Amino acid sequence: MQCRVCSSEDLDMVIDLGMQPWCNHFLTREEVGKEPFYPLQVMYCNACSTSQLNYTVKKEIMFGNHTYLSGVTRSLSDHFEHIAKEVDSLYFSNNKDKAMLDIGSNDGTQIRHFKQLGYDIVGVESSVATSKIANDQGLYTINDYFNYELTQKLDRKFDVINAAGVFFHLEELHSVTRGIKESLKEDGVFVVQFLYMKRIVENMAFDQIYHEHLLYYNLKNLQILLSQYELEIFDAYVANIHGGSMIAHVTHKGKRAAAERLQQLQKEEEATGCNEKQWYLDFAERIKKMKAENVAFFEQCRQENKKVWGMGAPVKGNTLLNYFGIGTDYIEYLVEKNELRKGLYSPGQHIPIVIEREMTELPDVYYVLAWNFKKEILANNQDLINKGVEFYFPINPKEN
Ligand SMILES: [Zn+2]
Repeated sequence: MQCRVCSSEDLDMVIDLGMQPWCNHFLTREEVGKEPFYPLQVMYCNACSTSQLNYTVKKEIMFGNHTYLSGVTRSLSDHFEHIAKEVDSLYFSNNKDKAMLDIGSNDGTQIRHFKQLGYDIVGVESSVATSKIANDQGLYTINDYFNYELTQKLDRKFDVINAAGVFFHLEELHSVTRGIKESLKEDGVFVVQFLYMKRIVENMAFDQIYHEHLLYYNLKNLQILLSQYELEIFDAYVANIHGGSMIAHVTHKGKRAAAERLQQLQKEEEATGCNEKQWYLDFAERIKKMKAENVAFFEQCRQENKKVWGMGAPVKGNTLLNYFGIGTDYIEYLVEKNELRKGLYSPGQHIPIVIEREMTELPDVYYVLAWNFKKEILANNQDLINKGVEFYFPINPKEN
């Protein structure tokens, strides 16, 4: 195997989460038990420090028909609005004709916020169903995979290029990065949002490791990738979504000075050792310990005859359930808001998904798989908490 970032062959396995199904394909009744399993193993590159999966599920399998809707969750929509306003006010508030490209634009939540600020918008989204949702709302979205070839067809440049949480499961990493370089105006800004591996590890958010996330980034290895295309990070900060996301602002090399908060984050990376192999080996040991603690919790619930439901059926929840081995023996239902997942089953553990507003009874315990929305969930469910429903968070993200 070659490193996906630097092509070195000097890689070592650091985390092994066993054989797992592709976690973003929730199963119909007919598909239950027929889903294929693939290795879920993280390799560390000794040359550039990138941690990455050694097995690639083809992008056509992974992204052709996904059912994740970013507009469903209020706090994400707020977050996208914040991003649009921030980028515009920092760099482009005086520009007249502004254009913005969103890579992996999902249901158009992000481009809508840029459109409201006067940008000419283009979304690129691989899912047929999801891109249709955006186009139906007048949010121009190309149903395709973003890569260098697509930018050649588009043949135009943008002030802002945005990629939220997609840049990092790219089979075509180098073609995509080259496409960004080619499509970015001279003084343009590429806004890249990614799972910040340092924070993921600090939060114990190992459920962010799944087949769609081929690559895991800290600032150091992201810059190693970008440098190959004469691009440079000039600002970055951590946001409390998905258990630790980083938002980095990137431009053509030498165009803008490095912000102080970026330099501070780079110093912290050095100080914690988060770019070292040992950091990941320690993480793997702590994940094993966490599994033992969670299985013990479920055993106790079973002994006390407590009815446990999962709150949310997020993609990442499947990594957790499958690695912990938590199935229908312990969890009766996964309760969702997203109607697209109604009547489906979780891959691997085959837990049925039900829709929250259709449920007439209550569980004793909600095991919160969508733990990254902890604040929002606790705030929205005060009535259940008052009725005695226990909310168990397997992962407790720390605040900034
Ligand atoms: Zn490498």
